[in-house]
Amino acid sequence: MSRYKDEQCRVCRREGQKLFLKGSRCYSDKCSISRRNYAPGQHGQKRAKLSEYGTQLREKQKTKSYYGVGERQFRKYFDMASNKKGVTGENLLQILESRLDNVVYRLGFGSSRAQARQFVNHGLFAVNGKRVDIASYLVKAGDVISVREIKKDNPTIKANVEENQARPVPEWLEKNSETLSGKVVRLASREDVDIPIEEHLIVELYSK
Ligand code: SF4
Repeated sequence: MSRYKDEQCRVCRREGQKLFLKGSRCYSDKCSISRRNYAPGQHGQKRAKLSEYGTQLREKQKTKSYYGVGERQFRKYFDMASNKKGVTGENLLQILESRLDNVVYRLGFGSSRAQARQFVNHGLFAVNGKRVDIASYLVKAGDVISVREIKKDNPTIKANVEENQARPVPEWLEKNSETLSGKVVRLASREDVDIPIEEHLIVELYSK
């Protein structure tokens, strides 16, 4: 059982970075990266030097794990990003940040993206007053995301709001803890994405 319990931490350890996949544990000294910052497995302590392709692949896998997105959807986002004006890698990050599950997490209503995704799938959230239960829904500037009126007593969301008071909300979002809602002030820009992703490696990988 413990093998499965630590599955998400193994992903972080493989990437050698905190990917914040487990909620409050990620912010505590129980985080596996703080305790065992080497890859899992028998030979994990000897990090092999990666080829160029291997480095690009790892960057893509890391980004997919971070946002909890599967290969097919990720590829679709890449195609959307390359068809948009601007820098493809930055467009890709903006699309990933715009996912409703990510926004719910960023606003502190979910303790992790996985939990936020579950909340959205279970119909706990509305966008502009209308129930949306699709975690991959892409928000737009001006959208208001809120806990649905009949779900406002959800004890887990209330506890998350309390626990995440100190977690900073990114500048592109505005949070209202009283009404359990948040507004998309503008879409995220590259500077708003606070995780160490080298998106150009993903672009290079898909451009081969
Ligand atoms: Fe586990 Fe979270 Fe630490 Fe990753 S950041 S190793 S998921 S506790």
